[in-house]
Amino acid sequence: MNIELDPSQKEVIARARDLARKNFAPRAPAYDRTAAFPVEDFTDLFRVGLLSAVVPREHGGMGLGPYRGDVFTLWLITKELAKADLSLARCWEGHCNSLVLLDGMGTPEQKERWFNGVVQKGETWVAWSGEPQARASLETMKFGTYTTRVKGGWTVEGSKAFATSAGGAQWAILLVSTAGPGGARHNTGSVDSQLLLACDLSDPSVSVDSSWWDPIGMRATASHVVRFNHTFIPETNLIGRPGQYLVDGWQTCFIPHYAATFLGAAEAAYEFAVEYISSQNKTADPYIQHHIAQSAINVETGHLWLQHVARMWETGRHDEAQLAGSRARHTMEHLAEETVKLCIRACGARSLNRPSALERIYRDLSFYVRHDNDDQILATIGKSLLGERHDPSFYKP
Ligand SMILES: Cc1cc2nc3c(=O)[nH]c(=O)nc-3n(C[C@H](O)[C@H](O)[C@H](O)COP(=O)(O)OP(=O)(O)OC[C@H]3O[C@@H](n4cnc5c(N)ncnc54)[C@H](O)[C@@H]3O)c2cc1C
Repeated sequence: MNIELDPSQKEVIARARDLARKNFAPRAPAYDRTAAFPVEDFTDLFRVGLLSAVVPREHGGMGLGPYRGDVFTLWLITKELAKADLSLARCWEGHCNSLVLLDGMGTPEQKERWFNGVVQKGETWVAWSGEPQARASLETMKFGTYTTRVKGGWTVEGSKAFATSAGGAQWAILLVSTAGPGGARHNTGSVDSQLLLACDLSDPSVSVDSSWWDPIGMRATASHVVRFNHTFIPETNLIGRPGQYLVDGWQTCFIPHYAATFLGAAEAAYEFAVEYISSQNKTADPYIQHHIAQSAINVETGHLWLQHVARMWETGRHDEAQLAGSRARHTMEHLAEETVKLCIRACGARSLNRPSALERIYRDLSFYVRHDNDDQILATIGKSLLGERHDPSFYKP
């Protein structure tokens, strides 16, 4: 699809595409099988300067992001990474989203310190909220953190699940609450009990429990359980004001970013299917023609949606953008799932036999779209249209 971009935007996206095709795609099957964080991919991203994509220019980065006038380039980079490996794209999203938060809410001292770590040392970030409170059947552990004010800072005690990049990232923004467990998503305390605390993951009080994580897909996100044993976080590591993350709706910046990853899944499946079918000389089959046509239209629609939402962010229509991102995410989830299924139908059973990339895309996408419940997303969009109270960040009922 021909998208209007200036030469510098095209160059950055091409850099990501090149790396994704040559390095990331060949590594993806092994990371998936071993559920290992894609450490070599992140080393490559640092080497070619992409790790600093969201670091502001004045701190030595590329200055991409929703509040920096160019978020579409960022989402298209994400799409390129997702085409090679959806797990890598999730880890990358977590890194970039964390840096958007630092840029938007951090103090000048925090930015100087932490952006330098990314630009100079290749430090990787992630943001962890995940503390689902209702225990899943067969689950033996319970998740939740307790955050207590102490002299000079806070202590965090307990555990988080879905801690993407655990064991790979150097820093995590912990979304915690002084009102008790639940993170940002599952907490019922007052808004100003919510804190964003930057945690140095080399602290010996932080440990990773890899026994819980054995999912169908997104395995290489290494979204393990992480335990905090009275972890002290100094006051200087508080990002923004208490409650600011929720009040300013920061999560809405990241919702269309997930859609960019879904789009990567769709486009990768489509390209896989075209090559597979062509090599089998099946292109004259009318049903295959239908499946390929529908898949191509879906991929094109996904690009148009992302561009539409990106332009809202980039032209300062932030209120509109905040909800439009959910519409894009909802639409893209369905387009991506349909595309992957159509491509499987066109290619046949052997396309789901390892080491087929389509097999991994199918598993990864099935799991990743569970990041939020589409029923709640659609209900939130409906509530907004009907003038009902709604939560555009986490779609809480
Ligand atoms: C691959 C992957 C990576 C992730 N990485 C991260 C990460 O890096 N950082 C992070 O913070 N999170 C991350 N998440 C976690 C994610 O944000 C959610 O917290 C996670 O999906 C919760 O697990 P769940 O869907 O099983 O549970 P639930 O949240 O319990 O959802 C299950 C179902 O219950 C419904 N539900 C939830 N609460 C209620 C309620 N009170 N009443 C009625 N229905 C309810 C939901 O709508 C949903 O349909 C990741 C998720 C995935 C899939």
